[in-house]
Amino acid sequence: MVSQSSGQTTALFVCIAILLTISLGFAIAVGISASKRGMNPVGWGILTFFTWIFGLIIFLLFLNPKVDDVKCAGCGKSIPRNHMYCPFCGYKEIKQNNTNT
Ligand SMILES: [Zn+2]
Repeated sequence: MVSQSSGQTTALFVCIAILLTISLGFAIAVGISASKRGMNPVGWGILTFFTWIFGLIIFLLFLNPKVDDVKCAGCGKSIPRNHMYCPFCGYKEIKQNNTNT
């Protein structure tokens, strides 16, 4: 039957469209999250687009080490990298404890 075959094709296209939308949603979410952490948003976005939940898991595993934290030269406390000065003691020149070129 031609009509049934056509219906199956339409259903397939709808499925692919939904999968692509979900993939794109994952990719954009991971991309934004990556860019906020100074990671490559395009690379992580593409990885997640093709690997789905696996890319998301790998991304989360990469986030686990606190790479964003830097050590304050004034009081030695761990503070987020995006801070211009230490929120604990007010020290302005925050020393980067990890070599990020
Ligand atoms: Zn401090």
